[in-house]
Amino acid sequence: MQYAKPLPSYLVTRYHGWKATAYQENQGWYRRLASEGQRPRAMVISCCDSRVHVTSIFGADQGEFFIHRNIANLVPPYAPDGDHHGTSATIEYAVTVLKVAHLIVLGHSQCGGVQGCIDMCKGHAPGLEAKESFVGRWMDILKPKFTLVEDIDDAENQARQFERQAVVASLENLMTFPFIEKAVADGSLSLHGLWTDIGEGGLECYDPKTSTFQQV
Ligand SMILES: [Zn+2]
Repeated sequence: MQYAKPLPSYLVTRYHGWKATAYQENQGWYRRLASEGQRPRAMVISCCDSRVHVTSIFGADQGEFFIHRNIANLVPPYAPDGDHHGTSATIEYAVTVLKVAHLIVLGHSQCGGVQGCIDMCKGHAPGLEAKESFVGRWMDILKPKFTLVEDIDDAENQARQFERQAVVASLENLMTFPFIEKAVADGSLSLHGLWTDIGEGGLECYDPKTSTFQQV
């Protein structure tokens, strides 16, 4: 593979800085993580967006969260069709092998993926509608929820509400996985829906009793 280049120097510098400080000071801890294996208590599914930083929000250390990130923090419905399913694979591993106790879906404000889905639903994004668009086909997962927000006139408010619906859609799709349904039923796994406001540092949690998101 002749196309791979050496690491850019700014990353080399940062790596050496980390190795000489954080790693050096906690070498025993890192070695224990390596020898004892991982035992994360929670899995987090968040957006790839660089502004979403779940380990910062919760002050999490290495070994605490099993994290999967994808466009718009979406979980597809259970589909055992023999195809490549990256998100479903991580969920399966977290629940059936690592046996995490909590599965958290974390949505966020100003989500480009969710905005793309809105554009598609309004007929403003022919590029995303193309069969070849991986982003477009991925965002199809969220499309059925658009009916819940299509009457909201204010575009900003509509996007923020649709971002929350992306979290709800993922929670609903999680329950279509037989091993998740079973773990939730026997009390060994609990699902949680969160939405974070990037600019305000806000965090809301989905309340199933009222089907609304409440400030944490
Ligand atoms: Zn996003």
